[in-house]
Amino acid sequence: MNLPKSLLISGGRVIDPANAFDGPADVLVLDGKIAAVSPAAGAQAPAGTPRFDATGKVVCPGLIDLHAHLREPGQSAKETIATGTAAAARGGFTSVVCMPNTAPAIDNAGTVALIHQRAESDGVVNVFVAGAISKNIAGEELAPIGSLKQAGVIAITDDGHCVQNNELMRRALEYAKMFDLPVMDHCQDYSLVTDGVVHEGYWSAALGLRGWPASGEELIVARNVLLAELTGAQVHCQHLSAAGSVQLLREAKARGIPISGEACPHHFTLTDAVLAGSDEFWKSDGRELFSAQHGERPRWPSYDTHFKMNPPLRQASDRAAIIEGLADGTIEIISSDHAPHCDYEKQVEFDYAPFGITGFETELALSLMQLHHTNKLSLPKLIAKFTVAPARLLRLPNKGNFNVGSDGDVTIFDPDEEWVFDAAASASKSKNTPFSGWSLKGRAKAVIVRGGVVYAGEPVAGESALSLAR
Ligand SMILES: [Zn+2]
Repeated sequence: MNLPKSLLISGGRVIDPANAFDGPADVLVLDGKIAAVSPAAGAQAPAGTPRFDATGKVVCPGLIDLHAHLREPGQSAKETIATGTAAAARGGFTSVVCMPNTAPAIDNAGTVALIHQRAESDGVVNVFVAGAISKNIAGEELAPIGSLKQAGVIAITDDGHCVQNNELMRRALEYAKMFDLPVMDHCQDYSLVTDGVVHEGYWSAALGLRGWPASGEELIVARNVLLAELTGAQVHCQHLSAAGSVQLLREAKARGIPISGEACPHHFTLTDAVLAGSDEFWKSDGRELFSAQHGERPRWPSYDTHFKMNPPLRQASDRAAIIEGLADGTIEIISSDHAPHCDYEKQVEFDYAPFGITGFETELALSLMQLHHTNKLSLPKLIAKFTVAPARLLRLPNKGNFNVGSDGDVTIFDPDEEWVFDAAASASKSKNTPFSGWSLKGRAKAVIVRGGVVYAGEPVAGESALSLAR
């Protein structure tokens, strides 16, 4: 991690949703902290302050991705903190939250300390740690939540798994409330989902793949609503995929229950029709997708394991409900669920492939395309889902806003740049993405952490880019 630096970012359109600011301004970072944001901020810059010209670009508080798998410790063939955070920087993110389903699991203070240390030495962007709810993520016994909090975790979750025992989940919420930690939950009822691999519906039947019903998610969302109401603890439902989940959340929030939700770009871009192959998808659920784009539409075969994720891609009505939930504010956060896997793990029969796709580098573009360029969300409202909303949930008052004194983390992006994503050129160690070869619109141009430029387009993240800023 770089030392705090000073930088003047000039000429951009500054969007700071936390302060309802949207207009031309300069952003001055001094010694790693936001010092001024205004059209005249440049006048306050000491002589010799490096400058970054952001003319024609959007300048916003550094984007936060609160759901990522960095795979350290124990699975560094898939990803490391170095490669994962480099990919995050390329995607426009200045902070990521790593999930605890590593090997060993992040269920003790020692492992948290190890990740903090590794993030300090190898990390390109800020790494925050989510601790486990249960020991070894086994769902049987609570992890030491107090000592995890003391070690610096900013949330707890058994992500990848889901605590099935409602009494254990209730106790977790009570402890988490005592320690002011949000509880994030991967919502999956094992008795309903069993060994399902894709959404239970038309395509699971047509393709002969075992179904993972939407109710398998909705049931746990409902459970979480009830337990949040009972305990008063904050529960955050991760990677929502089903229309019923959105409706449950909407009703619970209307009743003032402390519950929130997140959605991932793959769930609001794709549907389970992709499993039948690209021809089927482009003539059905993908017909209106990116209609503005020219060039050839990407192709893939049926049963492509790059479309296997948990929760699974669902049907068009679920995709529409997720988008509606994002548009009306029911779902306040967007995350990637960046889940790297080695090629050889994905190159097996569909049933045997692991769940998950990489996501950092396509997340911003897909969100802009599906939500902003379709006029569902204004740019400030979309940016809020990557900045002030996750910062509030995670109790990070110095992140996700341009308040004077906040951390000098800044993302600079071009919402309109058209480009083609190539997985082979990704900074991630793994290439398991369904979006390789896709024409995208919107791209991160520079990422600044505590005043230091850690990414500025090509060349690669992690290189000293200060010279580029002059
Ligand atoms: Zn998950």
